[in-house]
Amino acid sequence: MDKIYIAGNWKMNMTFSAADDFFAQLADYLNNNGSKKVETLIFPPFTYLELATDTAEETSLSIGAQNVSDHNNGAYTGEISADILSSMNVEYCLVGHSERRQYFKEDNSLLNKKIKKLRNFFIKPVLCVGESLAEREAGKAHEVVIKQLEKCLEGIEIDDDLLIAYEPVWAIGTGRTATPQQAQEIHKMIREWIAEKYDLKTAENLPILYGGSVKPSNLAELMTQPDINGGLIGGASLDIESYVEMLNMASKI
Ligand code: PEP
Repeated sequence: MDKIYIAGNWKMNMTFSAADDFFAQLADYLNNNGSKKVETLIFPPFTYLELATDTAEETSLSIGAQNVSDHNNGAYTGEISADILSSMNVEYCLVGHSERRQYFKEDNSLLNKKIKKLRNFFIKPVLCVGESLAEREAGKAHEVVIKQLEKCLEGIEIDDDLLIAYEPVWAIGTGRTATPQQAQEIHKMIREWIAEKYDLKTAENLPILYGGSVKPSNLAELMTQPDINGGLIGGASLDIESYVEMLNMASKI
């Protein structure tokens, strides 16, 4: 796979004017120096989706939401449906980020429903999986990730409409990154599991992103691993200079 995804997860950050400024600078970069090889993807808070999709219309930028309801439209105050996201031209959506699993108690069966809702509206789910530190130290990283995949993807056929992000919980927002070898080992296992459950072509075409304290200083080493197809990046995606630096680096890999 030639494409490299540089996906910024803004989480609950940025004011409206900071987001506006970021997108203006990003549009300028993409229109003048952007590379076709790099899939530039931002997951802003819901409130900035319109700003983001307006930028996407004029550039090669792609936009994702950070969450979706497992319900259809209706009386679910504060929630956002896949139908609403689709009406705003949102292309991707995170599902099962560890912060949602941990703080909002989202479990694998709920995530399975969310994936199904997104696919009804042709929005690509980015399914996040990953083990905690205790699970890694107990030698259970493989087992935990496989279980998450099995449960979240139950009854779901995939072709080119799903992405997976391996994000070891102990590396998210901690400054502690998995070594390229640790990340590659899990990515390879995920690809092998997909090949077994689906088929080889699906596995080969599946983008698997790595997330966990990715920044300009460690991006290249991680992204050159054979089974790593991009990064899901939190903190380092909030600053336009560091984000553009990573886009530039990815274009040269
Ligand atoms: C994330 O938001 O998914 C993430 C990996 O965050 P950070 O890069 O800050 O660790």
